[in-house]
Amino acid sequence: MSDAYTPVYPHQPLGGLLKGKRALVTGVANDRSIAWAISEAFHAEGAELAFTYPGEAMGRRVIPLAKQLDPVAILDCDVSKDEEIERTFAELKRTWDRFDILVHSIGYAPREALDGRFTDVTSREAWRITMDVSAYSLVALTRAARPFMPEGGSVVCLSYYGAEKVVSNYNVMGVAKAALEASTRYLAEDLGQENIRVNAISAGPLKTLAAAGIKGMRTMLAENAAKTPLRRNISQEDVARAALYLCSELGRNVTGEVLHVDAGQNILGVVSMG
Ligand code: NAD
Repeated sequence: MSDAYTPVYPHQPLGGLLKGKRALVTGVANDRSIAWAISEAFHAEGAELAFTYPGEAMGRRVIPLAKQLDPVAILDCDVSKDEEIERTFAELKRTWDRFDILVHSIGYAPREALDGRFTDVTSREAWRITMDVSAYSLVALTRAARPFMPEGGSVVCLSYYGAEKVVSNYNVMGVAKAALEASTRYLAEDLGQENIRVNAISAGPLKTLAAAGIKGMRTMLAENAAKTPLRRNISQEDVARAALYLCSELGRNVTGEVLHVDAGQNILGVVSMG
């Protein structure tokens, strides 16, 4: 790490939990990204990193940021294109013959599908692109990562409560997260025999670029802080710590799991706030 670098998410090292491990991280857009907090924590725990970003415009922002953590590669990969996934892993192979961890921190839905009544705003095209980028990409990336994990590995992806219950305006993204969580279980069963674990973290709401597209996010954060069992919102560091657990020896017999990091929000039914 360069001397001038100050972590955005200060991490109290836990003793080199990922020493000697290699992690491919997708989904860093800026320093508020969940993937960035995970990257900082993984780096602090001794992991070697590689990053992907989709397209040149995103690259201009991501490359200077990612360089702060001394990655072995920063590769352009739009996960909606098979040929880009193929090229990315071929390029990575020049540096790494194996790696241990894949972080899938990718989500996208057209903005107009995240504002209004689900029945009205969910076009065939919005459904297709949201499912493709936000859910199918987990399957495609895991398939591409598999040959790099001959002795096993860990894949972690990011989900949200809208997969389980209705969250206003989350709409087709909730449907895609349900598919992502189901894919996590199918991949976990399929790849368990190869000692590859696949898990999801269902994170509480966080102010990030992706979340900015969801109408009513500010109100949701305020309501959440008042109503969750822990009476607070979560932070990016909380998600990073859960990823550390799932991707290190600490989580070695955990697979196919959806781990809620949401200050307890998902356990609530009808609760008096008195
Ligand atoms: P973010 O905007 O920082 O990250 C989303 C990432 O998806 C970006 O880096 C973007 O480049 C990437 N992406 C979008 N389309 C892509 C494509 N075609 N190819 C490759 N990458 C693409 O926001 P975030 O909140 O850190 O989101 C990360 C993950 O966490 C997403 O899956 C999101 O749904 C999930 N999540 C977010 C919240 C929240 O409240 N912010 C809560 C739970 C889960």
